This record gives sequence, C-alpha cells and structure tokens, in this order.
Amino acid sequence: MIILAVESSCDETSVALVKDGKEVLSNVVLSQINIHTLYGGVVPEIASRHHVENMTIVFDEAIKEANVTIDEIDAVSVTEGPGLIGSLLVGINAAAAFAFANNKPLIGVNHLAGHIYAANIENDIQFPLVALLASGGHTELIYMKDHMSFQLLGETLDDAVGEAYDKVGRMMGLPYPGGPIIDERAVLGKDTYHLPRPYLDINGYDFSFSGLKSAVNNLIYHANRKGETIDVNDLCASFQASVIDVLSFKLEKAVNDFKVDHIVLAGGVAANRGLRNKVNERFKDKHVLIPSLKYCTDNAAMIGAAAYFTYLKKGALKDYRLGGHSSLDLEE
Ligand code: ATP
Ligand code: MG
Ligand code: FE
Repeated sequence: MIILAVESSCDETSVALVKDGKEVLSNVVLSQINIHTLYGGVVPEIASRHHVENMTIVFDEAIKEANVTIDEIDAVSVTEGPGLIGSLLVGINAAAAFAFANNKPLIGVNHLAGHIYAANIENDIQFPLVALLASGGHTELIYMKDHMSFQLLGETLDDAVGEAYDKVGRMMGLPYPGGPIIDERAVLGKDTYHLPRPYLDINGYDFSFSGLKSAVNNLIYHANRKGETIDVNDLCASFQASVIDVLSFKLEKAVNDFKVDHIVLAGGVAANRGLRNKVNERFKDKHVLIPSLKYCTDNAAMIGAAAYFTYLKKGALKDYRLGGHSSLDLEE
C-alpha cells in the first residue's frame, strides 16, 4: 500500500511517499529554519505563510522523486495534530484537496505517533516497548503493548527538552535552534558547572526542565554581574550532561518497571549524539531503536509510516472533513 504523507505541524513543509509503513519512496523536507533564526524561534504566522508558498512545490517534488503515478497512490495521510494550528491547517487542506480530487481515502495522523513510527522505517518495532519521545514540544515516556496502543507513563510538567535546549541556547547567545549547536559544543567542553539534576519524584515518570533552564539563566546572570566569563563549551557540556542523566534515569526506571526488552528513542532530541550514545550504552542488553538523524526531526516519511498502522487499526476517515488539533494526546 503506497501512502502519500503530508507534515506541516511546525516549521518543516514535508511530503513523502511510503510503501507499507516502511519503504520510503521519497521524503522531501523543506525547512524554514533559516527564516525563523532571524527571530530566535518559530513565528507561527510566518510559518503558516511559508507552508502555503511551499506546499505545492514540495508535493510535486515528492511525487516526481518517488516515480509513481497518481493512480498508484492508495491513500493520502496528514498530520492532524499536535502542532501550530495555522501550520497544521495548510497541510490538512492540501492533503484533503488532493485526496478529494483524486478520489483517495484520507487518514489523519498524530504527529507524536509519527515520531515513534520513524523507528519502524529502518527496523521493525517490537512489543512490548517503552518509548522516550523527546522533541521541541513534548517529553513523554510511553508504554506500547502493541501497534498503535499508547499508554502515557509520564511527561514534562513544564518545558519540553527541545524547548529547554533552544531557550538555553538563546541565553548563551547561540542561534536558533540551540539543540544541534549545544550538542556539538558539548563535545568540546566538560561538565564543570554541576547543574542540578531535576528528578522530581524519583519514583515517578514525570519530568521538569524549567528549573534547569533557570539555573543556567542565573549562572549567566551572576557571571555577567561579577564580570566573569562563561566557558560556553563547558556550559553546553554541563547542561547536556544534566539532561541526559535525567532522561536516561527515568527511561531506565520505566524499562525495569514494565519489564520490556524493546526501547524506542524518538523525536527531534533523539538526534542528540550524547543522548544516543548514553541510551545505547546503558541498554546494551536490550533492543534499542533510534531512527537515523533525518527521521528524528520533523519529516513526512514518519507520518507515512504511522499512517499505515493507523489505517490498519481504524481505517480511513469517512469523508474529507478533517480539522487541526493544536494539542492532541497519543492516547486519543
Ligand atoms: P513536537 O514534535 O513536540 O511537536 P517539534 O516538531 O517542533 O515539536 P521536533 O522537530 O521533533 O520538534 O524537534 C525539534 C527540536 O529538537 C528542537 O527543539 C531542536 O533544538 C531539537 N534538536 C534537534 N537536534 C538536536 C540535537 N542534536 N540535540 C538536542 N536537541 C536537538
Ligand atoms: Mg522543526
Ligand atoms: Fe516533531
């Protein structure tokens, strides 16, 4: 089954063609990062406008690259949420119009399921599993006993990890998005600043990163007041060490409590080299799946992968009326 997938929940306009939830025939991603860097973060109105301008170009490119005829496409899928509402609606309208005009079924996909199913593209995810989803807007521990079955074990009570990376990057004067740059600079520094490890309830699965973010802010503020210089590489290494300690600790707790052998690390922050290494190292005796970098950050191939399993479980939508949902739980 060949599914055309559309993703536009944030600042990437992407269209992909994916066969049977696995084989990526094409995956065109047009990132707006260069534009939003000027503002230090994603500006929703600007993001929607660029999706409008780029959507048809990306559509054409993806179909051409996949080398399929429109007849060969079995279904159309699109991210329905969570994400920026204006951005979501551009993708939803494009996908629904294309599906309607060509008489194809339409499938609504949860963006977070997409991040997890990115792990199914290059491997087969196996159950039961625990997934750590760490992205720009979410930090969640999820138990899956089977395909498309999501039990939320814990989540961040304030900032998502990716968000904390980006905000801390901004405090250090690094360009948006801070995540990849902090990751690079961390390798050049050492964990000398001894930032707090926010474990919250040590026996729970929830996270909190706003305190860690404030700790970095205070450190920079006091250093500036005293005229001391901050070693940016060391601060990156210290921040990253704290984040990785907390994420891997909670992941290990969930893996032990739920006695699973399979682990998925997903979302944009799963692109983090330090986190990838730590998780692979800490769970050497388990089966760890981490998508390649290009499938960690937002892309439509992951939506096409999740769409296939959404279709197997629930079928397609009854009609072409699909709304966007800025917040949408995985368990819904
Ligand atoms: P969500 O998926 O929660 O809706 P999003 O789609 O905006 O949010 P993603 O595209 O999944 O988020 O991930 C983007 C985030 O990942 C950004 O916050 C970015 O800084 C972070 N990120 C990307 N690469 C790295 C990296 N190497 N290290 C740490 N963070 C990273
Ligand atoms: Mg993005
Ligand atoms: Fe995302």
